[in-house]
Amino acid sequence: KARGKGRLTWFNEDFDRDRAEHQAIDLDLRAALDREELQVHYQPLIDCTTGRVSAVEALLRWERPDGMRIGPDKFIPIAEETGLIEAIGLWVLRRACRDARDWHGIKVSVNVSVAQLRNTQFPLQLGQILEETGFPAERLELELTETFLVGDPLVAGRNLEMLRDFGVGIVLDDYGTGYASIGFLRRFRFEKLKLDRSLIVDAAGDSATRTVMSSSVEMAKALGMQVTAEGIETELQASLARNAGCDQMQGWLYSKAVPAADLERQLAIQNEQLAKIEHLP
Ligand code: C2E
Ligand code: MG
Ligand code: MG
Ligand code: MG
Repeated sequence: KARGKGRLTWFNEDFDRDRAEHQAIDLDLRAALDREELQVHYQPLIDCTTGRVSAVEALLRWERPDGMRIGPDKFIPIAEETGLIEAIGLWVLRRACRDARDWHGIKVSVNVSVAQLRNTQFPLQLGQILEETGFPAERLELELTETFLVGDPLVAGRNLEMLRDFGVGIVLDDYGTGYASIGFLRRFRFEKLKLDRSLIVDAAGDSATRTVMSSSVEMAKALGMQVTAEGIETELQASLARNAGCDQMQGWLYSKAVPAADLERQLAIQNEQLAKIEHLP
């Protein structure tokens, strides 16, 4: 009994420590948002047919004044818990629409959290950002995970329809990690589906996973969706994704997420090469 009690205290201590850490991160994050210490980096998506950058994903970066970097996998869940994600999410959208305005022909994908999609004001807020930045809705994609149905699927579904009416593309992120069923995919008809990195990694060593991967792509295509392979690190993974029929590839093999200025240099080089090809005799 004594040990049982002791263990309970031990768990409580753990819990308190987590809470204290979460509160500290939440406070720092609020300050960082105010002081514009957050940054948006962009990771290119390569079109499988042309081999060129056709889109970028906006990924949030946080470097504290002491130089310490905290990854979004750590701070986004905390911001979701405290509700701060709504302000952060709008900030990322505004930043991405401003940065990408002049990247003609390039689509921009922004991750949207469940908490944002649950808010009935979200479509309105997005509409305002599009108007204020002059960014064309057709070049914007929103990445959701299947968890958006948790809580109030009706509000989420209605919001999704409103966003679609703007002309924004809806993308299902991290496909292959959760429980998304065929019924779910038929009901929501995303413009695009992103195969999770874990699927790509496993496919390299396991023929059953390769079959799952190519049938997922085939099914997505049958439902009118495009497919992006995430987290491509090796040539082998790239050729597996290409053979499975993926439309775009994203991963460190091509580029990590980089600051806007670096991406602009990459795009400028690409445009120069394109111009040269067009001027060949
Ligand atoms: P995600 O949306 O699935 O983003 C892809 C993640 O994979 C990114 O991690 C990216 O840097 C990483 N990645 C890309 N290529 C490779 C590769 O070849 N190998 C490996 N090992 N990783 C690769 P990151 O930037 O740390 O972001 C993690 C997650 O945090 C994102 O997963 C997304 O769920 C969330 N996130 C990031 N930015 C935002 C944001 O602005 N808003 C929201 N709500 N969530 C965000
Ligand atoms: Mg994403
Ligand atoms: Mg993903
Ligand atoms: Mg993810």
